[in-house]
Amino acid sequence: MTLEKRQPIPVIEAIQRCVKEQIRLPKTRVDLYEADGYILAEDIVATYDIPRFNKSPYDGFAIRSQDTVGASGTNRIAFKVIDHIGAGSISEATLGEGEAVRIMTGAEMPQGADAVVMLEQTVQTDEGFTLRKPFTPHENVALKGEETTTGDIVLKQGQRINAGGIAVLATFGYRHVPVFTKPSVAIIATGSELLDVEDELEPGKIRNSNGPMIHALLRAENISSYVYKIQQDDFESSLDAVRQAVQKHDIVITTGGVSVGDFDYLPDIYRALNATVLFNKVAMRPGSVTTVAVTEDTYLFGLSGNPSACYTGFELFVKPSIYRMMGATHYYPAMVNATLMEDFKKPNPFTRFVRATATLNGKEATVKPSGFNKSGAVVAIAHSNAIMVLPSGTRGYITGQRVEALLTATDYYQQDLYV
Ligand code: AMP
Ligand code: MG
Repeated sequence: MTLEKRQPIPVIEAIQRCVKEQIRLPKTRVDLYEADGYILAEDIVATYDIPRFNKSPYDGFAIRSQDTVGASGTNRIAFKVIDHIGAGSISEATLGEGEAVRIMTGAEMPQGADAVVMLEQTVQTDEGFTLRKPFTPHENVALKGEETTTGDIVLKQGQRINAGGIAVLATFGYRHVPVFTKPSVAIIATGSELLDVEDELEPGKIRNSNGPMIHALLRAENISSYVYKIQQDDFESSLDAVRQAVQKHDIVITTGGVSVGDFDYLPDIYRALNATVLFNKVAMRPGSVTTVAVTEDTYLFGLSGNPSACYTGFELFVKPSIYRMMGATHYYPAMVNATLMEDFKKPNPFTRFVRATATLNGKEATVKPSGFNKSGAVVAIAHSNAIMVLPSGTRGYITGQRVEALLTATDYYQQDLYV
């Protein structure tokens, strides 16, 4: 038996090969209340001006600015209130000299009015109020079209819809939103040592933690996945499972079995499926054996079984591919330059990815390993919000050095209030 010779490629190159694949998911429409997290499939164009009419941004009085000329503390000018409107109501009145309409926030400016006096700036009288300062035209008025005008592109195809996007879509009456479909994803954990979460431990066995972890990573992106039953290290049955999954899903994520061990069958499975292997060796630690292949418009991500390698492989390769196939214009991970707070002396033959805690609390960003960090480690993943990227070819890194870190957390809450 000859050992297959694998050629390592740089991580950047591996990521590029993943996102260069032209696998695209179809457009669809989803309910506005379900649309957050999707990628928008069309530009959204303003079909009317916002604001749609000149309106009051305050509770106060709509007036004619020309009537305030010369107003001062010793020359208070009196106004007569001729109408009273709240948001959603229109005044029938047209203002004449010295007249005002009591107006609430959001109400359309009455005819003739071009400024708003805030309630706090007035002194009440029997007929209305007096004021003590002159107003300029449009003072305290939210002008028609000041935010967007008809025809403006307010949301771009390829952007991820966040809560603000939902608000814009609601503004323009999109009960149903044009989006790209989310991928259907299968998760198949492979390994004869694996037990399910509810199983009693047995000698030589461990519980499958990668499967639930990948499921959670997908959920964090609002993507649901199908968890297949654990596969023994057996070529025929594993091939069957992967083959079936390829028929049904856009992405098949396997964990384990991708190395060159006697019971690692994923390379044979890719061959049997006639899949195009994009790479099967990456110049990175952990997870150098991570393999990505494509067949029948389905991505096959062969993640290493080592939990930290599995996690890192998801962040580096799966996530960008998902957003790319969903039509996103932004699909690369966010990186931050941070000060290393702990020595990391291990030399790096390959670029090393270390589960890390980054602190991004206003001052200078800092980063340090989030715990015991061998590739088999699980606990450090749980305490991480970043992955430190330590390039190869050095004798290690020391406290105070600047390093890059990839941000992985979906929330950025801090333990301490920033002051
Ligand atoms: P493999 O990639 O199959 O060579 O597995 C590498 C290491 O990761 C071995 O120590 C496995 O026991 C462990 N491992 C594989 N799959 C899983 C899994 N689903 N959950 C936790 N550990 C795993
Ligand atoms: Mg294995």
